[in-house]
Amino acid sequence: MTFQPRDLNLTDPEKGYLHFVLYTEPHRGYASSSLNATVKIEAQQTMTPHFQEWLGRLVRCEPNAMHCTLVEPRKIPTLFHPCVTEDKDSPSAIAGSGCTCRQTFYDPEFGLPVVAEHFKHVGTGGTDEWSYTTFAPLALRPDDVFSRFHMGRSLFWARTEKGALSILPQREGRGYSVGYSGGGPSALAAYLTQLAETDGQNTVAGASYEEAHPAILAWTQSSAADRGTNELSLADLKAMQQR
Ligand SMILES: [Zn+2]
Repeated sequence: MTFQPRDLNLTDPEKGYLHFVLYTEPHRGYASSSLNATVKIEAQQTMTPHFQEWLGRLVRCEPNAMHCTLVEPRKIPTLFHPCVTEDKDSPSAIAGSGCTCRQTFYDPEFGLPVVAEHFKHVGTGGTDEWSYTTFAPLALRPDDVFSRFHMGRSLFWARTEKGALSILPQREGRGYSVGYSGGGPSALAAYLTQLAETDGQNTVAGASYEEAHPAILAWTQSSAADRGTNELSLADLKAMQQR
């Protein structure tokens, strides 16, 4: 599906509403996002300072229809179950103190829903951890200007000129990654090129792969991106384009 940002308010919760475009296959009982990319964050990816900063601002809320699009249909009831730490008789409790509940949040900066999934079991070497699912925004907010790119544990972030942190805007079907030749590094390079070329003004996700600047593409494909440098300012990106 194509869209122009002017057609839909997709990123500005200040307006009091957001449009969201659903993809649905009714015969399968399936409904999810048509435009916004789904972002799954495993427990071992939650250890970075950027994730912790983002997590710290989330607001717990009642489950709504948006959260239902982030879980398998048959798991929707678990959105409404209390955690075993709140109720030992929760339908999501396992053997008295284990738990597979879910909790629901929203991001007050970008309006997007977040589902946290609990995995707690008390067997040998017991585990108590949370993973998260949300949608990436399709752009930064209307008055935001991109200033820095951050990366860590395969999570990609944008920092605005005013200091707000966002999951890097991403379209469904255009996942980002680094360290090899393929679609993920190409999608990331194309988006970073667009940011550099527009002085951080055009933050709409979905730049076509051909737009990727060769120097930026070489960086996203390199193992250096995977290993070391995990932050690039707008000035760094523009300097890469001069090469
Ligand atoms: Zn729980």
